[in-house]
Amino acid sequence: MKIAVLSTNGNLYSTRRLIEAGQARGHEMSVVNHKRCYMNIMSNSPEVHYKGTVLPRPDAIIPRIGASVSFYGTAVVRQFEMMGVYSVNESVAITRSRDKLRASQLLARKGIGLPVTGFANSPDDTDDLLATVGGAPVVIKLLEGTQGVGVVLAETRKAAESVIEAFRGLGANFMVQEFVKEADGADIRCFVVGDKVVASMMRKGKEGEFRSNLHRGGTATLIKITPEERATAVRSAAVMGLNVAGVDLLRSKRGPVVMEVNSSPGLEGIENATGKDVAGLIIEFIEKNARTGRTRTRGKG
Ligand code: ADP
Repeated sequence: MKIAVLSTNGNLYSTRRLIEAGQARGHEMSVVNHKRCYMNIMSNSPEVHYKGTVLPRPDAIIPRIGASVSFYGTAVVRQFEMMGVYSVNESVAITRSRDKLRASQLLARKGIGLPVTGFANSPDDTDDLLATVGGAPVVIKLLEGTQGVGVVLAETRKAAESVIEAFRGLGANFMVQEFVKEADGADIRCFVVGDKVVASMMRKGKEGEFRSNLHRGGTATLIKITPEERATAVRSAAVMGLNVAGVDLLRSKRGPVVMEVNSSPGLEGIENATGKDVAGLIIEFIEKNARTGRTRTRGKG
């Protein structure tokens, strides 16, 4: 098969591993920088142009769209879908997962465990907003943040009020969440491919840090997840419509709660922690499922 990895940087670990894994299975692999793709959306025979010529039509694409280019990146994925190209994660699913508010609402609707969460833009009643999530301590998050930036633990009501005031002053969208203390600075990344968790790891923040992000000095270890955690991760990916997803869970008193469903989960941390060929499993999934025109939405969403 001709498989294109949509990525802005061919040197990234995840991109390299997908290319390697595909080549090892005899596929014709390429890296296509979605930022450099352009297209005539009025044409009735949709195509994608790239570096001055029409891009030869791949059989399948693997979108690896960074958060900062979600808007344009998903438009490129949509164009491929209109061409009938199989995308392992469809544009609509990527868009759903990128919007934390929309994603939480979809997951909550399906009864998936979430931390008690309140959303706000410019609340005039901070007290009531805090009360809706059970009062301090709370975690306050900027919706646009990634890798733990803009995630604040406010231990007291006073601290929470100041942070909310500051975010409100910036006109930022944010959410206020119950602090899951019992998670003890650790979260669980479940890597889902199709309807299986193919690898999982526990990430723990450095001493004194409640955020477990590896980019913030957290460490990853192997972990055996419970059947309930496995089912929660698989269902969460399915609710988003993602075939490949990184589902982040916290172990709460009430059982697993989902913090985030990531549509371009990194391969480096999970492959190093588990020693598994996750890239190979993604390619294998594509071999089994990619068919021309097999897209749920054909770019309609
Ligand atoms: P980002 O998407 O920027 O990484 P997260 O929402 O994943 O932000 O938060 C970063 C980290 O902070 C998480 O990996 C987790 O360890 C910790 N964390 C986030 N929300 C909570 C919460 N409600 N209770 C306890 N810890 C949390």
